[in-house]
Amino acid sequence: MSRYSAFAIAKEAFREHTGWRRTWGNPEPKRRYDAIIIGAGGHGLATAYYLGKNHGIRNVAILEKGWLGGGNTGRNTTIIRSNYLQDPSAAIYEKSRSLYEDLSQDLNYNIMFSPRGVIMLAQTEHEVRGYKRTAHANALQGVATEFIGPERVKELCPIMEIRGPRYPVLGGLWQPRGGTARHDAVAWGYARKCSEMGMDVIQKCEVTGVRSKDGKVAGVSTTRGEIDCDKLGIVVAGHSGVVAEMAGFRLPIESVALQALVSEPIKPCMDVVVMANTVHGYMSQSDKGEMVIGGGADGFNNYTQRGSFHHIEETVRALVETFPIISRLKMLRQWGGIVDMTGDRSPILSKTPLENCFINCGWGTGGFKAIPGSGWGFAELMATGASPLTAEFGLDRFREGRFVDESVAAGVAH
Ligand SMILES: Cc1cc2nc3c(=O)[nH]c(=O)nc-3n(C[C@H](O)[C@H](O)[C@H](O)COP(=O)(O)OP(=O)(O)OC[C@H]3O[C@@H](n4cnc5c(N)ncnc54)[C@H](O)[C@@H]3O)c2cc1C
Repeated sequence: MSRYSAFAIAKEAFREHTGWRRTWGNPEPKRRYDAIIIGAGGHGLATAYYLGKNHGIRNVAILEKGWLGGGNTGRNTTIIRSNYLQDPSAAIYEKSRSLYEDLSQDLNYNIMFSPRGVIMLAQTEHEVRGYKRTAHANALQGVATEFIGPERVKELCPIMEIRGPRYPVLGGLWQPRGGTARHDAVAWGYARKCSEMGMDVIQKCEVTGVRSKDGKVAGVSTTRGEIDCDKLGIVVAGHSGVVAEMAGFRLPIESVALQALVSEPIKPCMDVVVMANTVHGYMSQSDKGEMVIGGGADGFNNYTQRGSFHHIEETVRALVETFPIISRLKMLRQWGGIVDMTGDRSPILSKTPLENCFINCGWGTGGFKAIPGSGWGFAELMATGASPLTAEFGLDRFREGRFVDESVAAGVAH
């Protein structure tokens, strides 16, 4: 596979761009693989990549029922941060954030990581106390965050009205190296590298059944035939409950739609990400100039991967007091993804009752930021049977009451 570089662009310009190759292959499924990953979202592709890169397991297929990154990975609002409260969460999210720092170089694919900084606004006394506590916890965890006052918030984001009549801005939790990245490029960059390592990224291949023998995984049934494997990773986000049922176990998980929207593009006016958890909304500006806006998940379980009018109204209404300029903007488009929510709002990266079958899910409304770290830890778990990054996120914690409670961090957990 040719290397992307300034030199390659110049060379292609001279020969009218006739030399670019396919970014990833389009193979037919083989009869057997050492490992199969179900789901070509960011987490599935990152898992495959680190299985190959860190553990030398390259006879791998990634099976996707739709198209690459067509699930939540290509539908999120791309916020990256690691300012979580509990130690196991901070460890995996900070590992992830730090991998994002040079992921473009590692993948030789521009994922447009933009560490522009993330502010989580404190708009009640309760939130001030909560975020000060998180800032202290982050200091102990080695995650660089700081509690800042309202004047500094205004300095960082001048379009904000901080004296709101209902919810004045009292401060904020500031993570200067948080930010955004281009979501589909993350999926494409990992897919390209997997393909380069000889792995099969197979789109339009839906898994319809999981086969087992003597309590051990044997393979999967798909819309493109039977495929055997030694190890299976289920990484299907909002459809985790459905695929787990195929493998014969149940998950403590709910699927709900989470929506987002963008405005018409305007001139650059906001170069940080702002999250307002009290009113339940958040906003950033894309490179194209659109204001990227999101809010809470639908209040009922569903599998509808689309937007709804009530969401635009609720979210814009929530944010307009703090960002009066959005009252003048036309909203351009909206969409939804199906997110997988656990009770403690932390993910599941775990062995399962079926031997050699592993599950990675429960990232809910905030798993984009976790893609590199999750892939790193889950690959280690699949390859070696254990990983320090995933140790606290096993399924057992729900039976044993060892929750990793991030429900506060996850109020609007993007
Ligand atoms: C509107 C919205 C905003 C968000 N904002 C943020 C944010 O700002 N920051 C953040 O960190 N996170 C955010 N998230 C959450 C984040 O997008 C997800 O946690 C993350 O993308 C999950 O990635 P994944 O790879 O696990 O799942 P997905 O990207 O959904 O991939 C799972 C794949 O599995 C495939 N699949 C399912 N069933 C089968 C089957 N039977 N056979 C084969 N393939 C199958 C699906 O087609 C899908 O492509 C947001 C999510 C949404 C919906």
